[in-house]
Amino acid sequence: MKALRFLDAMLLREFVSTMFLAMRYFFAPKPTINYPFEKGPVSPRFRGEHALRRYPNGEERCIACKLCEAICPAQAITIEAGPRQNDGTRRTVRYDIDMVKCIYCGFCQEACPVDAIVEGPNFEFATETREELYFSKERLLANGDRWERELAANIALDAPYR
Ligand code: SF4
Ligand code: SF4
Repeated sequence: MKALRFLDAMLLREFVSTMFLAMRYFFAPKPTINYPFEKGPVSPRFRGEHALRRYPNGEERCIACKLCEAICPAQAITIEAGPRQNDGTRRTVRYDIDMVKCIYCGFCQEACPVDAIVEGPNFEFATETREELYFSKERLLANGDRWERELAANIALDAPYR
């Protein structure tokens, strides 16, 4: 009988302390967010979807030096270069990234001498088919046009540390 009373007291104490713990976390600020309606902060160094940037006059930054292709450890980048018709300058005629192979290491961005290929802040580019993750030059340039404001701001923020 004495043992049973002792057990009851122990259980009651456990119950009360658990309730206090539950109430403390119930009123504490939530560490989770209601994604996709809420989004957390993204670092300026975040390595997301790739983009090819242009200069403010619309000219492509890429000079087809192929450094990004050479450094890519996943061999995800394929470039073909040639002289441009109107002025004979060297430009890419093909610039593909196989995003299935990409490991988001950021080496291509680091290697580029003209900040043309960059990894932007976009992480919402999931697809239903594998083929949609083969990014062409047109897709990469469109990404650059879409995200240029954020890309330029992130590069400026990171510039003192490069
Ligand atoms: S982030 Fe790395 S793996 Fe992906 S394309 Fe650039 S260099 Fe290649
Ligand atoms: S994106 Fe940059 S590193 Fe790659 S070929 Fe163009 S200029 Fe060279």
